[in-house]
Formats: sequence, C-alpha cells, structure tokens
Amino acid sequence: MQRPPIKFCRECGTSVVYRIPDDGDTKERAVCPACNTIHYENPLNVVGTVPFWGDKVLLCKRNIEPRWGKWTLPAGFMELNETTLEGAARETLEEAGAQFEMLGFFSLVNVARVSQVHLFYLAQLTSDQFAPGVETIEARLFLESEIPWDEIAFRTTKETLERYFADRRTGRFNIHHIDIA
Ligand code: ZN
Repeated sequence: MQRPPIKFCRECGTSVVYRIPDDGDTKERAVCPACNTIHYENPLNVVGTVPFWGDKVLLCKRNIEPRWGKWTLPAGFMELNETTLEGAARETLEEAGAQFEMLGFFSLVNVARVSQVHLFYLAQLTSDQFAPGVETIEARLFLESEIPWDEIAFRTTKETLERYFADRRTGRFNIHHIDIA
C-alpha cells in the first residue's frame, strides 16, 4: 500500500504545498507555506521472524486487512525507540503468543515500490503452544509440504519462506538480500 500524501503541516496545521525546497534538494516535498517546515518522508521498516519448531514453521492467519484470512510470518511495523530485533520479537509475541529464543538475522527484503524494508530474524520456538493476539485468527505449524503457498499474504513472506526451506535442505543458514520489483 502506498502511503497517503501529507495534507497538513505537522507543526502548525496549515495545508502544505508540494514543491522542491530551495536548499539544493532535488525531490518534491510537502512544504508548509506558513512556517516553512519541510516534511521529509522516508521508508518504513517492517520487522518479523521465521519461527521454527523442528522441521515446521509457524505461520499466522491474518485477522486484519490487508489480506484478511491469508497466512503470514509474524511481522509488523517497527516502533520508535526499539531495535530491529526487539521489534521482531515483539511482533512474534503479539501476533502468535509464541515462546521462542531469537537467533540470527535472516533476510532483508526491499520493497521499493511502497518504500518499505522488511527484516526477518530466525526464532527457535521453545513450545508448540500458541496464544494468538487479536490480529491473528489462527497460529499454526506447517511442514514445508503443507505450506499454503497460494494463500500467503505477502511476497516478502513467500520469498523469505522459500529461502528458509532451501537453506534448511542444505543445513546451512545464510543471510539473504532480496529486492522485490
Ligand atoms: Zn506550518
């Protein structure tokens, strides 16, 4: 989803205009004609995990839009003042109510079209019991052969899962850098 354009100045509430600021900038920004505040917009980070239990992976069935009812790895927008690892752990706890140990970094997925960077860590589950939060209909473990590939909510999840299972077959987990066109 594209972010909606900024309409009002964050400092004084005046309607902004889109123009290239006069400071050598090269991109159009939302500029306030009253107080001259320039509103810079930057990509958002989404953080999550690949939680595994033996040869199974935990997926969450989404109880929110977009992609209600589709399956995803636990992930969500990073909050202010947290690290990527803390955010990934928080999302895993919130969405799946899982118990786990955070392991290493696994994948970085650029989704430049919507100005997002997704970061996934490996998380080793320490229990196969889950307590999904309000954003999740169901949290369930899947063998690779059981993954509902046509019912995966996001390309970022699909690409990360494909690499997880490919690495698992070789017995060696690499760090992956993925660009989604
Ligand atoms: Zn203003």
